[in-house]
Amino acid sequence: MSKKLLWRTTSSGPEQTERLGEALGPRLRGGECLELISDLGGGKTTFVRGLARGVGSPDTVSSPSFTLSNEYRGGSVLLYHFDFYRLNEPGIMRQELKELVTDTEAVTVVEWADIVEDVLPPDTVTITMSATGETSREIACAYPETRAYLFEGLA
Ligand code: ADP
Ligand code: MG
Repeated sequence: MSKKLLWRTTSSGPEQTERLGEALGPRLRGGECLELISDLGGGKTTFVRGLARGVGSPDTVSSPSFTLSNEYRGGSVLLYHFDFYRLNEPGIMRQELKELVTDTEAVTVVEWADIVEDVLPPDTVTITMSATGETSREIACAYPETRAYLFEGLA
């Protein structure tokens, strides 16, 4: 397990959480895995909406409820959005995720990853969102040195 660095910020509304995703999008090079942690309604999917815009994908971001995963194409990198909410048996999706995280062209973003934690790579960036009020969130990004380019100089 590599040592993780920490970058923190706050959000005062959904637009701001989206803007964080939008700011990170152009920094993605492909091959990154982002794990999103929060309670229900914390802003994970909202963040992914900004991320998709940030990589330049015109695709619509929604919760991958039935299919467990969405793809957002047409941007600088291919964005894969997984959501394992309340899933007891990830089945084939575990394997799919395991293969995708080694794809250097793709970026994988995972909500509720607990059940597939074992297939997330050691250089996974963990983004934790904590509600501190109705619309306020504390956002903490834990990342290894190899992913420092994502946060360096980020306002
Ligand atoms: P999750 O995917 O974590 O369950 P969503 O992004 O689907 O969360 O929903 C977040 C909800 O919380 C939205 O209804 C959004 O408008 C609201 N919200 C309020 N404040 C914020 C904030 N600062 N950041 C993100 N979402 C917020
Ligand atoms: Mg969600």
